[in-house]
Amino acid sequence: MLPLDTPDSDVPKPDFRHVHTWLFDLDNTLYPADSNLFAQIDERMTDYITRHLAMSAEEAWRLQHSYYREYGSTLSGLIRLNGVDPEAFLAYVHDIDLSAITPDETLITAIDRLPGRRFVFTNGCRHHAKRVLDRLGLAEAVDKIWDIRALGFTPKPQTEAYHRVVTAGDFDPKGAAMFEDMARNLMPAYAMGMTTVWINNGSQWSQQGPEYPLIARRHIHHEIDDLAEFLHAIRI
Ligand SMILES: [Mg+2]
Repeated sequence: MLPLDTPDSDVPKPDFRHVHTWLFDLDNTLYPADSNLFAQIDERMTDYITRHLAMSAEEAWRLQHSYYREYGSTLSGLIRLNGVDPEAFLAYVHDIDLSAITPDETLITAIDRLPGRRFVFTNGCRHHAKRVLDRLGLAEAVDKIWDIRALGFTPKPQTEAYHRVVTAGDFDPKGAAMFEDMARNLMPAYAMGMTTVWINNGSQWSQQGPEYPLIARRHIHHEIDDLAEFLHAIRI
């Protein structure tokens, strides 16, 4: 048993020395889930569907969540089955109050020390991602944002989304690490050889997904609850 005062250098650190490409999900990954930003987006999605598909809020909520489960994102289902205009939808649902998030110096310095390229890989839109990154003080730390348009409106966890990012970003997935709060979104990343890190915030959203209970977390290399602390601790 290790003595309690074991120096830091003796504790094995997660080894990320092979990683040169860092993929970060945005919502509930780069800011804490308890800031409830995503809850605002969720509510605005229900509201949009209620108005545009002329249904009750309850029916809209059910449709929204069934599309999320089946297609990876609500928008993907709305485009396929209801002919919803993606631009109007994205503008509406991301028009939210960001005052709950503030710059986190520990996270900024943790991301600044990562070697190689840092990408945001999100099912949301670029405008929302830029607003959030500005607010978090991370705009300069990120090399590129892969948003839902860049993904051709094919969201995570559809494998095609990951292949698009790897091809367009021109990197070897075996030298990439992906950080995500939704466990199911790490499955294709793992299958392609990426190192996967799940930020388990304990929410229902993060664990939701029909495949999830069946795969017993084999696709998760690291399960964490504090991104900044973890990034400071890894070997790079
Ligand atoms: Mg997320």
